[in-house]
Amino acid sequence: MPTTRDEGIVLRSYPLGEADRVVVVLSPRRGRLRTVARAIRKTTSRFGGRLEPFNHVELLLFPGRSLEVVTQVSTVEVFPRLRRDLDRVLAASVMVEAVDAVAQEQEPSQALFDLLLRGLTVLDRPEPPHPDLVAAFLLHLAGVVGLAPSLTACVACGAPASDRFSLTAGGVVCGRCRVEGAMRVRPGLTGYLDSLARSELDRLPVGPGGDDALGLTRRFIELHIDRRLSSPSVLSP
Ligand SMILES: [Zn+2]
Repeated sequence: MPTTRDEGIVLRSYPLGEADRVVVVLSPRRGRLRTVARAIRKTTSRFGGRLEPFNHVELLLFPGRSLEVVTQVSTVEVFPRLRRDLDRVLAASVMVEAVDAVAQEQEPSQALFDLLLRGLTVLDRPEPPHPDLVAAFLLHLAGVVGLAPSLTACVACGAPASDRFSLTAGGVVCGRCRVEGAMRVRPGLTGYLDSLARSELDRLPVGPGGDDALGLTRRFIELHIDRRLSSPSVLSP
């Protein structure tokens, strides 16, 4: 039977039977991939902590009855600084949760993989993360999966717009258009979100402060992926 070699970032895992776990990874070549790690819940497990969430790993996989079985794991990156700080762990949890929600099985997802790797890498840097890193990450994720909100042009007519936003219609709404559910947002907020969406995650612009950038982005994403993200996330400035 042929073994396959793959790489991925561990998104989560859950128990299977007495001692095994299903380990869900994001593979750039194969999208969301569910694998089985046998006997990983025994204290003598040969996998150690190598299949912990956020780890970037290389896997050797053997075909199983329904899921592929992990036979070897080596770590490429474990993001040690990220793990020493609860705020950063929570931020990383939102990132993997959102990726898990949008990734498809058996579908190449290089862009999504690259985005997650960048997000975790920035969270692992020695300096404090940008307070709106998670908001920026979610906006980039929306772009990768084709859900990017319109942040400068009215979703109904295309005119420049900035002070009203509709979560359901997917973006800003001008003063003339009647769009259901459009709500007023703080002046400058949508322009700031636009700059977050356009900037590299390691070079984000200085923000206006406040938590509404993340709040609005998170509600927008949750609505469009049809899932609540369970991890709280606040990166202290
Ligand atoms: Zn309009």
